[in-house]
Amino acid sequence: MACRSLLHALLLMPLLFAVRAHASAPRAFDVISYEVALEPDIQQKRLQGKVTVWFDAVQRVQTLTLDAGELDIASVTQGGRALQFEQTNGRLRITLAEPIPSGAFGNVRIAYSGAPRFGLEFAPERDEVYSVFSTSQWMPSVDAPDERARLHLSLTLPAGLLAAGSGRAKPPRTLADGRIEHRWSSDSALPAYVYGFAAGRYQEATRQHAAIALRFLSVDRTPAQLQTLFARTGDMLDFFAARAGLPYRGESYQQALVKSTIGQEMAGLSLMSEDYGQGVLDDPDDTALMAHEAAHQWWGNRVTCASWEHFWLNEGMANFMTAAYLQHAQGEAAYQAQVQGWRTRLEALRAKGADHALVYANWDAPTGDDRAVAYRKGAYVLHLLRGELGEAVFWRGLRDYTRTYDGRSVVSADFQRAMEKAAGRSLQPFFDEWVYTAGAAEG
Ligand SMILES: [Zn+2]
Repeated sequence: MACRSLLHALLLMPLLFAVRAHASAPRAFDVISYEVALEPDIQQKRLQGKVTVWFDAVQRVQTLTLDAGELDIASVTQGGRALQFEQTNGRLRITLAEPIPSGAFGNVRIAYSGAPRFGLEFAPERDEVYSVFSTSQWMPSVDAPDERARLHLSLTLPAGLLAAGSGRAKPPRTLADGRIEHRWSSDSALPAYVYGFAAGRYQEATRQHAAIALRFLSVDRTPAQLQTLFARTGDMLDFFAARAGLPYRGESYQQALVKSTIGQEMAGLSLMSEDYGQGVLDDPDDTALMAHEAAHQWWGNRVTCASWEHFWLNEGMANFMTAAYLQHAQGEAAYQAQVQGWRTRLEALRAKGADHALVYANWDAPTGDDRAVAYRKGAYVLHLLRGELGEAVFWRGLRDYTRTYDGRSVVSADFQRAMEKAAGRSLQPFFDEWVYTAGAAEG
């Protein structure tokens, strides 16, 4: 059953959200780029890192507050001068030596180490390390999804490992001690939660799909198996590009099977588990999870919820687009099976009094039911809107929305406006019922 892996994913989400849900306060600075150099020790499950954070001062900046998880900060410097800093509740507060006036830019350099309990997963038996959403657990950064910056990532690893990362791959460098420095640079500004990488004793398969270089990685699967289980990747990217009205962005799209994950979208790179890969070999129609992650390359990574309050615009949309892909690839019954699953979950939420509005402020400690609202009810509401507007209007609105907000942060009102423009009428009653309030039970 296609949704098995997603269901599994949902059950494992609380840990992630506990750290992703910092309320988004107005910032006096805007990060331009991070230049980060990581040296993971896979056997010891530790890492050392250095990051230079370049920022614009939106207002006069005297202190800079970043998210830094449980990292041990060794030093913070500005132009070679050591700066004062303090760490409380996962935040790193840096006092600049000289304030940066509004409109000017500056940078700080942070040296750190850590043994992250989450945010980074180590599997020594596979010589594997990969990131898991919470970027600030392995790199001091701004967690808030409305902060977009470029990433220049360097990852130094023992020779013999393959690696995939966010951004355009640059040629690896062999260091004097024989280790290899893998490097990537993003061409566009991205929210930090889509930064990431995977490295391990992988086998790889590659395939060119039009202008996109597809690359598949796994420790357990052979290159031939990888070609089989990722046979539909190109078709998925084409489908989503058509629905988005925007071509896939980037030269490559990589999919890696890692030891264990709920499924994760990063810029140009998706992670799924080895178990999921085996599941697709057993049942070639079990493509929902890989479609979901591919859909995020547009909805989530490019059009990003401005705060977790509007998280359904990422996850409800990815689930809905997954069902639309299954409808295209497998037929109407596959789509309706997804819809029925959402409806059943929503009815169960309502029966126990756990339903609430899609716009939801309390993401600090979300329950499985809260996530079901964003993921399942969110998708179901998009299905209802599709029915309300009809095929031509709905898809035109979705395309206009995606193109208008490409590379930007969105709130639910942005989506509403785009769909109203396509519909040529107010959709306030629909949004009031389904997005801004819990909505009435269906008769
Ligand atoms: Zn998702």
